[in-house]
Amino acid sequence: MAFALYNTLGRKVEVFQPITTGKVGFYGCGPTVYNYAHLGNLRAYVTHDLLTRTLRCLGYEVTHVMNITDVGHLSGDDDSGDDKMVKSAAERGKTVLEVADFYTRAFFHDTGRLGIIRPAVVCKATDHIDDMIALIRRIEANGYTYFAGGNLYFDISKFPSYGELAGLRLDESRIQARTGADEYKRNPRDFVLWFTRSKFENRALVWDSPWGRGYPGWHIECSAMSIKYLGDRFDIHAGGIDHIPIHHTNEIAQSEAATGKRPWVRYWVHNEFLLTDKDKMSKSAGTFLTLQALTDRGYDPLDYRYFLLGGHYRSQLQFSWEALEGARNARKSLRDRLRALSAKAGGKAAGDPGGSAAEYTGAFLKAMEDDLSSPRALAELWGLLKDNAADPADALAAVLDMDRVLGLNLEADIHERNGAEDPALVREIERLIAERGAAKKARDFAKADAVRAALKERGIILEDGPAGTVWRREW
Ligand code: AMP
Ligand code: ZN
Repeated sequence: MAFALYNTLGRKVEVFQPITTGKVGFYGCGPTVYNYAHLGNLRAYVTHDLLTRTLRCLGYEVTHVMNITDVGHLSGDDDSGDDKMVKSAAERGKTVLEVADFYTRAFFHDTGRLGIIRPAVVCKATDHIDDMIALIRRIEANGYTYFAGGNLYFDISKFPSYGELAGLRLDESRIQARTGADEYKRNPRDFVLWFTRSKFENRALVWDSPWGRGYPGWHIECSAMSIKYLGDRFDIHAGGIDHIPIHHTNEIAQSEAATGKRPWVRYWVHNEFLLTDKDKMSKSAGTFLTLQALTDRGYDPLDYRYFLLGGHYRSQLQFSWEALEGARNARKSLRDRLRALSAKAGGKAAGDPGGSAAEYTGAFLKAMEDDLSSPRALAELWGLLKDNAADPADALAAVLDMDRVLGLNLEADIHERNGAEDPALVREIERLIAERGAAKKARDFAKADAVRAALKERGIILEDGPAGTVWRREW
């Protein structure tokens, strides 16, 4: 069976065909770092991780890119309200950069504990203002913008396929225009590419631009950074379903307006919401739980990951403490069975699992190939663990193979794998460090500095010491 994925663009399950054979360019919208990620946000990142892991298991080389939003995201995705970062900083008596740094670290602490593999490229919006300005200039040169009331807007009337992703009917959206909406917008769905008319006095984060001193709109950062790292066209873009009608719709319009190439992204993947009672878990409604709140009650973050895997990413999932307790118990008995199996196999997994174990692995992969059907995949794992007829060494190897996709760290008893890095990334960094070393030797310091700066943009810091150059994550 071929890998099939539900594509929001077109609203059906489609066989996945990458632009370049064997390779996948994947961009997942990252967090706005003004507060802790809540369990609903983390559902989105576990979904991205599951997609990346599945693609890798199927033999694809995946370049996973994620942004960190530290500027420009207003409380309303439609340019209304306050800047989330600025507001949070003011409330806490900190600078925006201090707040961003603190919550970025907290975010990676959480994702690491959830077994989420770090994307190869993690890029901060404030490090890419020049890329955003360059992209906006292309959009402007192609005739899709107007300047009014101090802001540069995207004019959706110039982009005939606007709203295709969300199936928007534009005449309806006009009628539904909210009172109090931005008076300078020609159409209520036009959106800001560059603000100069700040809603805050003495705003700290402002940059010079061809349109005046100001700051970028939120949507442009994802277009600019994904195009920078993945090219004018790439394979998969993901986020929560709330991003379909505004954020992703606007990303498509401005990216295609800039490059003139369609489709910008081939497959759009959207996860459904995590609910508390009947509502979406959300930061603004104040109904959110953090991962820390679960660990404070004695749960392991992987209990939450297991709970998420038990639901399909396109179904709403109701959070409750009872359901989390169920996940904890299931994960415990999973590990008990695995330990028993490991004992039976003398702690040695087969090199290449065959026999009936291989059939379970096949069915497991089939489930994942079928639009990431993790509940069915988990059922195959359980089927194997309960099958006494399977050869223990084969079964042990098969379970560990399945865990490359599930990310439940089942191998922990054998050796610690949590917080793993993408091996292709490690090779690339090592290659760049060698390149920089050679440049320094040849006294080409401009090139050496350029390598360091390019890695810094991706959140990777080089440190020179007596033992040579080592690298670490900025967050
Ligand atoms: P934000 O930091 O607000 O930009 O959100 C980060 C990610 O979490 C986005 O992909 C959102 O679509 C997603 N998201 C927000 N709330 C929920 C929720 N309750 N359940 C699942 N995903 C969510
Ligand atoms: Zn985005």
